[in-house]
Amino acid sequence: MQPETTAKPAEKRQGMYKVVMDQFEHAADIMGLDPGVRKILAKTNSEIVVHFPVKLDDGTIEVFTGYRVQHNNALGPYKGGLRYHQTVDLDSARALAIWMTWKTALAGLPYGGGKGGVEINPKLYSKGELERITRRFTYALGDNIGPDLDIPAPDVNTNPQIMAWIADTYSSTKSPATRFANLHVVTGKPLGAGGLEGRDRATGFGVVATLKAWAKRKGKSLKGMRFIVQGFGNVGYWTAHFLTKEGAVLIAVQDASSTIHDPKGIDPEDLNRHVEANNRSIKDYPKAPTMDPAGFFGLACDIVVPAALGNQITAANAGGIKAQVVAEGANGPTDTEGEAILRANGVDIIPDILCNSGGVIGSYYEWLQNKRSEIWKIDEVLGMIQDKVMTAFDQVVNTAEEFKANWRDSAYIVALRRLEKTYMERGIFP
Ligand code: NAD
Repeated sequence: MQPETTAKPAEKRQGMYKVVMDQFEHAADIMGLDPGVRKILAKTNSEIVVHFPVKLDDGTIEVFTGYRVQHNNALGPYKGGLRYHQTVDLDSARALAIWMTWKTALAGLPYGGGKGGVEINPKLYSKGELERITRRFTYALGDNIGPDLDIPAPDVNTNPQIMAWIADTYSSTKSPATRFANLHVVTGKPLGAGGLEGRDRATGFGVVATLKAWAKRKGKSLKGMRFIVQGFGNVGYWTAHFLTKEGAVLIAVQDASSTIHDPKGIDPEDLNRHVEANNRSIKDYPKAPTMDPAGFFGLACDIVVPAALGNQITAANAGGIKAQVVAEGANGPTDTEGEAILRANGVDIIPDILCNSGGVIGSYYEWLQNKRSEIWKIDEVLGMIQDKVMTAFDQVVNTAEEFKANWRDSAYIVALRRLEKTYMERGIFP
């Protein structure tokens, strides 16, 4: 197997840190955030970079680079995903960690924000190599993660299997007496390794819960609405699954390999079977024609769901978006210029820290289930996720009215108020 090639420069620089800081500064101005708290939240608490060697299948040794950025833990342990992608770097890990702090605060969870990953194209490695990379990365992170310190979860190109390897490696390096007390060092595990029924679909379920609430406020129904999804992985597939159940029609999908479009409708279940059998890619799907990827976001539709990487809706394509709403399943899919264009054109945005919060809420319940040594049923779990997403949604709407702000700014204000209150009440050590 070939070692990873260097990523292309344009793909390499995601530039998401600037976007999250623009959003933060703007919301902090509107609400008049305490200047001291503002200084604290503008910095990350710690940034861990590890280089670790792994023996590949052909006997050669490759050295990989992994990251874990811990932004803030005022409300609880750091929480956030691990991404395996060639664009992973300090800038993207920082930005994604900061978004996690806002997201957990907005959802009212006892967590802070962290994020990380490995700079790698996982498609270039065998399953055995990925297992060794994951285990060695976990070992390199050492006691920088932990069930009450920093709890990773799946993100782009990481999945329940990878979470199981992390949990097993972490607990295997601790005393056997504490093995099962360490299971919740990571969430998004498979069911047999301490996972939670429903965590797999939690993010997509939450995306659709926010879309239902959006439609209700508009006096509209999702039934018959046409939607397009960028990214057909965990978030993209489950969003399409639940939106189709509401009677909406999937008309186009784009992933890293291809773009397909069929105005008559694409069956997400059938497409998902193809993806599962086809190395997680929509390429060569026989039942829908391909189209020019550049025209994807400009397709005539009602709902756009970006569910892939950051900075996908930009000045280059935002003006062509004809949809009524962008539901941000991905983290940071819309950059500052793209957002200004969408707003000027009257396109609603359900902001990422609200829209995709079902995932971290599901992770919270997995963590609690492990801590309590309980096993919960899927209906209970989805009901609890629905409650928390809707509580956050109502707070965002009410705060938007209070400040005459858009939903992105009001989502930030709800989160920042919670963090500000915590710092005011507990003070700063020493
Ligand atoms: P995934 O790895 O399961 O799927 C990612 C999808 O994006 C794949 O279909 C891939 O082909 C596609 N993709 C990658 N590069 C692309 C490109 N340049 N253009 C078009 N498509 C591209 O990842 P996921 O877990 O579904 O995460 C997707 C997004 O949702 C990320 O932004 C992630 O941070 C966010 N998110 C995930 C969760 C979760 O629970 N997994 C929770 C909240 C937010």
